[in-house]
Amino acid sequence: MSSWSSSVVNGGVSFWFADDGLPDVREPLTGDGHADVVIVGGGYTGLWTAYYLKKAAPFLRITVLEQKFCGYGASGRNGGWLYNGVAGRDRYAKLHGQEAAVRLQRAMNDTVDEVVRVAAEEGIDADVHKGGVLEVARTPAQLARLKAFHEHELAFGEKDRELYGARETAERVRVADAVGSSWTPHGARLNPAKLVKGLAAAVEALGVTIHEATPVTEIRPKHAVTPYGTVRAPYVLRCTEGFTASLKGQRRTWLPMNSSMIATEPLTDEQWAGVGWAGRETLGDMAHAYMYAQRTADGRIALGGRGVPYRFGSRTDNDGRTQPETVQALRDVLVGFFPALAGVRIEHAWSGVLGVPRDWCASVTLDRTTGLGWAGGYVGSGVATANLAARTLTDLVRFDSGQAGPTGLTALPWVGHKVRKWEPEPLRWLGVQGMYATYRTADRRELLSHSARSSRLARVADRVSGRG
Ligand SMILES: Cc1cc2nc3c(=O)[nH]c(=O)nc-3n(C[C@H](O)[C@H](O)[C@H](O)COP(=O)(O)OP(=O)(O)OC[C@H]3O[C@@H](n4cnc5c(N)ncnc54)[C@H](O)[C@@H]3O)c2cc1C
Repeated sequence: MSSWSSSVVNGGVSFWFADDGLPDVREPLTGDGHADVVIVGGGYTGLWTAYYLKKAAPFLRITVLEQKFCGYGASGRNGGWLYNGVAGRDRYAKLHGQEAAVRLQRAMNDTVDEVVRVAAEEGIDADVHKGGVLEVARTPAQLARLKAFHEHELAFGEKDRELYGARETAERVRVADAVGSSWTPHGARLNPAKLVKGLAAAVEALGVTIHEATPVTEIRPKHAVTPYGTVRAPYVLRCTEGFTASLKGQRRTWLPMNSSMIATEPLTDEQWAGVGWAGRETLGDMAHAYMYAQRTADGRIALGGRGVPYRFGSRTDNDGRTQPETVQALRDVLVGFFPALAGVRIEHAWSGVLGVPRDWCASVTLDRTTGLGWAGGYVGSGVATANLAARTLTDLVRFDSGQAGPTGLTALPWVGHKVRKWEPEPLRWLGVQGMYATYRTADRRELLSHSARSSRLARVADRVSGRG
């Protein structure tokens, strides 16, 4: 491995936590207890659900059980793209009609502003900057996909989306070889760990009980079982996303998929002058093995993409430790985008897990007969989606318990969506490895062929994985 890698901090949950400081862990559960609602998992989904439920019904006794500390999962490790993408929208259009999917998309657009609003109202300083989302194309095939993607988004009601040529793209961010881009205003950059820490504090201040260092081993109707005791409640909500497979009976529900990131040292003013990026848009591309990046509040580039995508047997996490090949691959992406930054130090590398349902559709469910609920399967788009899912879960609980009637959120097409389970091993592992190898090959072929046609390989991988 080359010399640039010797100073990289690897793991430690994430750069965001390393920079801002790991939190003091709250008291674990000590013995059996009762609540009106038990929430398993202290990420955005669990905490936003606790937040909205308690705001709507302050009398509710709500307990959050978190295996490590709030934000330990993807919520404290992500790329900080607060944006309006939601996994599965197109499938929901096929299943429930375009109008229903447009309602979901509108709700997502509003959710970006909702998170910004509540963060401000609660005094959570999460380095939020609403500069929109810029997605660039760097090959003819990517450009063709970008244009199709742009048109497709317009059809879902995004009238304020803009398409740029090479020159206009460079005026925003000077990405090498960029031939075009699509920009939407419905996105903001943020510091994920600051958001989740602030949210946990806000929830606690409202009177919600949070127990950390408390792993739930089993969820069954009206029970959340831990090694330290069982909490009983009429409603038990599973908000465990990429870790869901470790719960009894859930091994094949959502596949834990890895995503990895690197953060550079802070760039100099001169380096920033070369890069541009004054608008601090979140930045992505149209490659099949796509990347995502942000300009951080302290002037670094944090950039992510697929690492080793999936570990055999749905194993999840190692405090974010990342394989050296992945760090190298992400650095190559960075330098490919910004060749002048070849000498920039990578200071931190980390990984986290996403939850991927068999049909790649995020969903929210409350089973009215058992009181069990869950939300997730966001794939790589959960920063905003978790907020919408949490508000939806809140409305479902309030409706079911007779506190309120149905709402616009309870009628969204992702509510109550059912999906089959993933295949048993080794098929699961083979399938995911094969899919990502295929995406990488497809990107290489497109680069070499200069063709405007998307590689057929990628379409095959989409179909096989259930994504297309
Ligand atoms: C590297 C990376 C980059 C990403 N970038 C983006 C991005 O830029 N934009 C975007 O929209 N999305 C992004 N995502 C996805 C997004 O971060 C997630 O979808 C979102 O944070 C999910 O929130 P959550 O609360 O559902 O899950 P999590 O944040 O994973 O929270 C689940 C929590 O449950 C706890 N838990 C799990 N099992 C148990 C148990 N048995 N008992 C008790 N507690 C348990 C975990 O410790 C964890 O704290 C990224 C994800 C990763 C990994």
